[in-house]
Amino acid sequence: MTAQQKIKVAVAGAKGRMGQEVVKMLLADDSLSFVAGIDSKLNGVDVGEVIGGKPLGVPFLNSLPEALETYRPDVLVDFTTPHTVYRHMETAIEYGVRPVVGTTGFTSEQMADLGQRCRERKVGAIIAPNFAIGAILCMKFAATAAKYMPHVEIIELHHDQKLDAPSGTAIKTAEMIAASRKQFAQGHPQEAESIEGARGAGFDGFRIHSVRLPGLVAHQEVLFGATGQTLSIRHDSINRESFMPGVNMAIKAVMNLDSLVYGLENLLD
Ligand code: NAP
Repeated sequence: MTAQQKIKVAVAGAKGRMGQEVVKMLLADDSLSFVAGIDSKLNGVDVGEVIGGKPLGVPFLNSLPEALETYRPDVLVDFTTPHTVYRHMETAIEYGVRPVVGTTGFTSEQMADLGQRCRERKVGAIIAPNFAIGAILCMKFAATAAKYMPHVEIIELHHDQKLDAPSGTAIKTAEMIAASRKQFAQGHPQEAESIEGARGAGFDGFRIHSVRLPGLVAHQEVLFGATGQTLSIRHDSINRESFMPGVNMAIKAVMNLDSLVYGLENLLD
């Protein structure tokens, strides 16, 4: 494959836990070319030197517009923070650069606005709260189970440096469950919390619980209850490599999109 045919990719948050995995994945795929890293502090330093490898000849820049103007990537992968990602997506769409976003914590208003911007500019974009295939299957199986066992609670478990709660995966799972489950308020009508928050967050009549502990990566269990039986659907990402096949697939798929796709499940058959 010639350099010209390669998909040029910039990575926002390339110094972070997910960003470093993305850089390794890009370097291992001959059809992809890593052209720039974006970081809020580093500027002009070689990405390879910062993330503990040999020099790559690819710089960190602290200005996203400068990175997009100078290196003209086809795709911007973003694994940053809930406070940064919306602005990054706005900028990328403005420059006609396709965002592939794993950062979580969007509001529904932000999602609607970004969808509109993509449609207007005919720019493809993918936002996936979880890039692990097992997590996508967990969501799909949970949505199917909720049709037949509508009493459900979601428990999501993540490392203690995660900024947003509940996780984007739990919100997406809840949305998919709500779309297939008959809506009603679960539990006892007079249920009361003696400690605020004991019953978790309410979503469409059911509950989401968020656990944060060191040692965890990204985990989710969806519990169903019915007369005389329970069903648990659980997914565990035990390392961050688990997300990379999904990110790789999204980078290739976004090249053929002209609107925003929310959720990797929409790219699977
Ligand atoms: P992290 O290790 O804290 O990395 C975030 C990186 O973003 C840091 O290197 C940070 O570095 C950089 N950053 C912050 N503000 C920035 C800005 N304004 N411009 C450029 N870079 C900026 O976090 P992580 O564990 O990699 O997670 C990142 C996000 O991905 C989180 O939202 C997490 O929930 C999500 N996530 C998604 C999936 C999925 O499958 N979709 C999987 C795992 C995690 P500086 O502060 O030095 O700039």
